[in-house]
Amino acid sequence: MIWLVDDVRDTLSRAWANSLHCRRGRASASGMERPVATDKIFVNARFGDGTRHSIAVSGGRITAILEANDRPAASETVDLGGELVVPGFVEGHIHLDTSFWGDVWRPHKPCTNGFSVHERVAFQAENLAEAAPMDVRARNQLDLCISHGTTRMRSHVMVDGSVGLKSLETILKVREEYKDLIDIQLVAFPQSGILKSQGTPQLLDEAIGIGADVVGGLDPASFDRDVEKHLDVVFGVAEKHGVGVDIHLHDPNMLGVFEIEQIAARTHTLGMEGHVAVSHAYSLGDVPPDTLKKTADTLAHSGVAIMTNAPGSRPFPPVAALRRAGVTVFSGNDNIRDSWWPYGDGDMLNRATTIGYRSGFYTDDELLIAFDMITEAGAKALRLDGYGLRVGAKADFVTLNTENVQAAVASPPQKRSVYKEGKLIARNDKVLKKRVLT
Ligand SMILES: [Zn+2]
Repeated sequence: MIWLVDDVRDTLSRAWANSLHCRRGRASASGMERPVATDKIFVNARFGDGTRHSIAVSGGRITAILEANDRPAASETVDLGGELVVPGFVEGHIHLDTSFWGDVWRPHKPCTNGFSVHERVAFQAENLAEAAPMDVRARNQLDLCISHGTTRMRSHVMVDGSVGLKSLETILKVREEYKDLIDIQLVAFPQSGILKSQGTPQLLDEAIGIGADVVGGLDPASFDRDVEKHLDVVFGVAEKHGVGVDIHLHDPNMLGVFEIEQIAARTHTLGMEGHVAVSHAYSLGDVPPDTLKKTADTLAHSGVAIMTNAPGSRPFPPVAALRRAGVTVFSGNDNIRDSWWPYGDGDMLNRATTIGYRSGFYTDDELLIAFDMITEAGAKALRLDGYGLRVGAKADFVTLNTENVQAAVASPPQKRSVYKEGKLIARNDKVLKKRVLT
């Protein structure tokens, strides 16, 4: 594999650019008025519908999707061998600052009386005081995720009175190191509460100022015990900076539904439809069907997305019913080997399997829902620019040795190749390309 630098790339394949223009005319999906020079052509790509294509890439973006036997000259030709080609996976919810991946194994400590967010936060503080440096652990986790095919990610990072901005500053540096391998959104996450943790409202504001992309929240009722004031801060920071919102909500039953209604109402009032997500939203799995339907309609109307990782220990949001109502439902691995649970391997395809398994998804259409949650729905919830296997999108894709997308969800294949902006960055569970060290 030859890595081409930009100025070399730009001088190559002018003749092919003209040829492409003749064949394709305008690249309408990208909005480009005319095609640009092609530096790489991927041949023998099998799409989810079984059709075979060639994919032309220039400047890291897809410039054309051609018929299988259309193999125009390019500076480099890559034969994908007829493997299934799917978009790079979207990790919609992870915590880069708290995983122990690559560190010593830390046995899970159960809560004393059922699940308690307060207790888990206290255990986490104890564990992190003894852990390997955060940047080392974050790189370990990123390598893990990228090796399995994740090319876009949203990570929550603790920002509160207990850690200030230190964790965010560390993860911002790691994000810069990895910018050629993965696009990362960061959520300023008040893990110790907003009202209960001194100085947190100001810290959330400063976090956006230094590079966080989204403002977070945590169980406004059970943690801070003041839904109005908690949401005043979250939406206040979002409105001031023009950023999105992603709130952790573990509160169960009607308490959680009440909070979802408050979040949806504020979203609608502020015109933030499509910019707000609720992560976990366990309550949607607790309430009866009529309440669920009413809440789902409210979510759809206000453009609030729901993230679920299909947790194993309790009911979770019913994916199919929410989607039927028009709600965007996406997924993420959430905690990977940390103080909350020991599970997780960073593989979004395995996460799709878990979602399908726990949701009772058996038909092809249902398996495709699980896959959509780790690709297109995630891209929509995160408002990602240039996502997917389409002209104009970034050439971020994964090759899989399997029959089709449904089979990939039912039994995820190993031995994948991962391409980021047209460059091979991982193969067979190993990240290949060196990071940009700062
Ligand atoms: Zn989380």
